[in-house]
Amino acid sequence: MSIAVWIEQTDGKAYPSCWEAVGKARELGDALSKPVLAIVLGKGAGDVAKEAISYGADKVFVGEDATLETFRMEPYAAVVEKIIKDEGVELFMAIATSRGRDITAAVAADLGSGIAPDATDMKLDGDKLVVTRPTFTGNILADIEFNSDVKVVSVRGRSFPKPDQDESRTGEVVNVAPVLSEDEIKEKVVGFEEKAKGEVSLTDANIIVSGGRGVKGPEGFEPIRELAKVLGAAVGASRAAVDAGWISYDHQVGQTGKVVRPDLYIACGISGAIQHLAGMRNSKVIVAINKDPEAPIFQVANYGIVDDLFKVVPALTEEIKKRKGM
Ligand SMILES: Cc1cc2nc3c(=O)[nH]c(=O)nc-3n(C[C@H](O)[C@H](O)[C@H](O)COP(=O)(O)OP(=O)(O)OC[C@H]3O[C@@H](n4cnc5c(N)ncnc54)[C@H](O)[C@@H]3O)c2cc1C
Repeated sequence: MSIAVWIEQTDGKAYPSCWEAVGKARELGDALSKPVLAIVLGKGAGDVAKEAISYGADKVFVGEDATLETFRMEPYAAVVEKIIKDEGVELFMAIATSRGRDITAAVAADLGSGIAPDATDMKLDGDKLVVTRPTFTGNILADIEFNSDVKVVSVRGRSFPKPDQDESRTGEVVNVAPVLSEDEIKEKVVGFEEKAKGEVSLTDANIIVSGGRGVKGPEGFEPIRELAKVLGAAVGASRAAVDAGWISYDHQVGQTGKVVRPDLYIACGISGAIQHLAGMRNSKVIVAINKDPEAPIFQVANYGIVDDLFKVVPALTEEIKKRKGM
């Protein structure tokens, strides 16, 4: 019996939040005296295996067959399911990225397991696992218990601290064969489009500067980007700004966008609709800049500035530049 974590990776670079899930798995594994397995698939998976051990895995399953080269749900889920059956895995975890959500849903459906998506906490009640997940746009936190033998959980990034890396840890690395042949896989990857280089990823960011309808147009995101640049932050947006075509959807924060949990979230010209709050209300510190003192964003903000963002944002940028000697 064991706990397994799927490590999402591209070309030998793991998605950083996966280590948070490995840290939590280690904590649960230590409490229940169960080993922690990591599953790394795709081109470059072998490079990630040692890292997985250094973050707390006891045994790493590596699959580098050509059919597993890039993420495809069917062949990946088939390998994961085989490992779960062969190793008697009781708890399977992945980070709740879009791929992590795909694979956990597929595994749970195929194995008939209970699933808790988008978990923000996991704890033990005796030896029973209790998973906390937000529901009703984050207004309610539901505690989930399982009655299935295999439990499947996708974990929101930045829900758990990243464990310390211990390069001296040792573990076993096992190569896994694919389960499906290329002929049996319906999905085919026909190409990739690379995102603009140098942009900080929204879900990994420690700091996010977001703009809403108050920025008034695509050019209104320039001061937002300037501030983000000096802070080393990612740029976020409300759905109103995205729907208006001022910025692309991958910047959208909220119920139908990304759920983020940075240390600092600066909301500029965003009213604070419930669907936006669903994506950012768990940020550590929230700063709101809005002309309207009645804007609901001020109810969740730790610091509020009631003023024109076109005055405040450039002034903040200049001051930070000065203090950083930029
Ligand atoms: C099913 C569903 C899902 C949704 N999902 C999402 C989602 O994922 N994310 C999301 O964001 N929304 C989502 N929405 C939309 C949401 O309800 C709001 O419409 C949206 O968040 C409003 O965006 P906003 O705050 O930018 O715009 P507004 O509500 O129009 O607010 C603009 C704010 O800017 C301020 N302002 C204007 N000019 C300035 C200035 N010069 N300086 C400072 N402040 C200024 C105004 O006072 C105002 O408070 C969803 C809605 C539905 C129904």
